Amino acid sequence: MEKFCRNCGKKLNEEQNVCLNCGVAVNNAIKPNDKTDKNAVVGFILGLVSIAAWLIPLFGYPVSICGIIFSSKGLKSTINKGKAITGLVLSIVFLVFTLFNSMAGLLMWSEFFNDYYFYY
Ligand SMILES: [Zn+2]
Repeated sequence: MEKFCRNCGKKLNEEQNVCLNCGVAVNNAIKPNDKTDKNAVVGFILGLVSIAAWLIPLFGYPVSICGIIFSSKGLKSTINKGKAITGLVLSIVFLVFTLFNSMAGLLMWSEFFNDYYFYY
């Protein structure tokens, strides 16, 4: 991860404690990526919601697809990377569940109609 000197803005090595350019101590250097990533948190929450949402394909598709989008954006963050990965895995798993659920639903309906036509 990249650090930058707060005084002069020069790029620093991770293990550097003093800026070689201006001599200022850099223990409070700016870490541009080191902040809470909303995408990771939203993706994580959508991943959790998809655990229940797959039961109804109408909800399962948008929730899990949005979960995948937000989580993969959130993978760039450092602090919330774990959440982003969890959200991504949950969203993908339950998108598959949603697919199977809607296919099972279609199969049931087509069997219902087959019976209907055979009967008459
Ligand atoms: Zn400096």
